[in-house]
Amino acid sequence: MSTQNAVLQGVGVGRGAVWGPVATVRPAPVVPADEPVPADPAAAKEKVLAAFSDVAAGLRAQAEGASATIADVLTATALMADDPALRAQTGQRIDKGEPPLHALVAVIDSFAVMFTAAGGYLAERVTDLNSMRDRVVARYQGLPEPGVPPLDRPAIIVAPDLSPADTAALDLEKVLGIVIEQGGPTGHTAIIAGQLGLPCVVRATGASSLVDGDIIAVDAANGTVTLDPDDATKAAVETRRAGLATLAEATEATEDGATADGHRVALLANIGTAEDAERLTDAAVEGVGLFRTEVLFLGAATAPTEDDQARVYARAFSALGGRKVVLRTLDAGADKPLAFVTQAGEENPALGVRGFRLVRHAEELLRTQLEAVARAAKETGGTPWVMAPMIATVEEARQFAAMAREAGIQTVGVMVEVPAAALRARDILAEVDFVSLGTNDLAQYTMATDRLLGSLVDLLDAWQPAVLDLVAATAAAGVETGKPVGVCGESAADPIMALLLTGLSITSLSMSPSAVPAVRFALSKHSLETCRAIGEAARQAPTAAEARAAALALVDPQVREVLALG
Ligand code: PEP
Ligand code: MG
Repeated sequence: MSTQNAVLQGVGVGRGAVWGPVATVRPAPVVPADEPVPADPAAAKEKVLAAFSDVAAGLRAQAEGASATIADVLTATALMADDPALRAQTGQRIDKGEPPLHALVAVIDSFAVMFTAAGGYLAERVTDLNSMRDRVVARYQGLPEPGVPPLDRPAIIVAPDLSPADTAALDLEKVLGIVIEQGGPTGHTAIIAGQLGLPCVVRATGASSLVDGDIIAVDAANGTVTLDPDDATKAAVETRRAGLATLAEATEATEDGATADGHRVALLANIGTAEDAERLTDAAVEGVGLFRTEVLFLGAATAPTEDDQARVYARAFSALGGRKVVLRTLDAGADKPLAFVTQAGEENPALGVRGFRLVRHAEELLRTQLEAVARAAKETGGTPWVMAPMIATVEEARQFAAMAREAGIQTVGVMVEVPAAALRARDILAEVDFVSLGTNDLAQYTMATDRLLGSLVDLLDAWQPAVLDLVAATAAAGVETGKPVGVCGESAADPIMALLLTGLSITSLSMSPSAVPAVRFALSKHSLETCRAIGEAARQAPTAAEARAAALALVDPQVREVLALG
């Protein structure tokens, strides 16, 4: 344990704070390439089979304390570890003199090939199969099982990084917060953490020195992780939590986002799953401004069918009642690889076949998704807005609009997250009914900075003047054409930026649901005129830091204090 109150500096996601014990995530074990042939194959076989049994028993025990969805996954994985055919084949290979871990990996790989070929439900289980393999290998080697450990008490997850699938599968009842040493603030792990309302700090240099049971305090507003916090630090965390809870309650009654003088700005939520939509049932948000549908299929080995998709979209639409939903078609590739469609071997995946560009080799996938959305809309009586990601040209916008309308979608839009689209937003808006600015990718592509590379976080900043110019150009095209221009990147969750965006005539702000109360509060305390002044002041600044400072200088002092804006 390090010195009391030592601080690790990282980059915060959201405004939450929490303190509690650390639970570290273990890396996947490595099977040595030169694993020796065992001197006693019978004993090695017994040890491997015992590892299978231990893993199955451990998973079952873990399932007992877990929420229903996670318990299902754990139980299904335990069944695989018990599978007689899998165990028998592994045993036979060891009997024949193969090194035990190589035998085990070879058998599980052959099952994975069979599962993938079978498609559907079985293909979906390949991730679980691989996770079971890693657990058995670790047990055999006498190492702790990899991945997020079973939590017997609420804890803060600490890891070098988490895969989006790991983050999505976290047991929300037990996870207090997330600290990762790598990743970036607009990477998918951070986004999902924000969506789940978990205080999160990424790029926390030194987090790998933390061990299970260490007590830490996580402050997402300031991006800090305090080791062994003293009573005063813990009390400050509690005060912040209470303040945020009060803020949430105080603003919960306000149905719609609006400035102090009544200028409406829709406050919407970003979601990735039907469960996220269900969690919004009682939330004071006006709807969903970004449904990241690829999150549903991050672990899938084969393309989801129209039926599978229609079912899950219908579930989300029903949960949202008549509220607005903006659904984004699959944004696969780069930071969101989908096994069934992402092309391997691209040298620069962020500049490759991703987002809408998938239509070039997988048009059917998009058509199936649009059909599924239209069907779910019909079944639930909803009228979702549907948009395509990563549009760069007018032709792409036109092609997408034609496909979506053909499928029966009434309100069609595209995301503006590539500078080319922002610069020509007027022409793009001529093809579609609305656009939504994805400031995460817009910052990435404007600043030539990988959004996953947190070490360049200063460049990857939506306050960068060039990014603000592109946002302003897009907003101006919206005013000119009379069409809605929303923002659904992480920048919408920053209360000061939200004021600026409102001043630029952005019509909706979509963010992690947990960020909505602070933004609603900030908006309600400023007039449209002040928001416009904030926009003008920020846009005149030559640097990101000066732009933020110029905006902050015009923010109401009470809002600065309540939201700890600095
Ligand atoms: C964005 O790029 O800002 C965006 C909202 O999309 P995603 O973060 O899912 O890429
Ligand atoms: Mg994007």
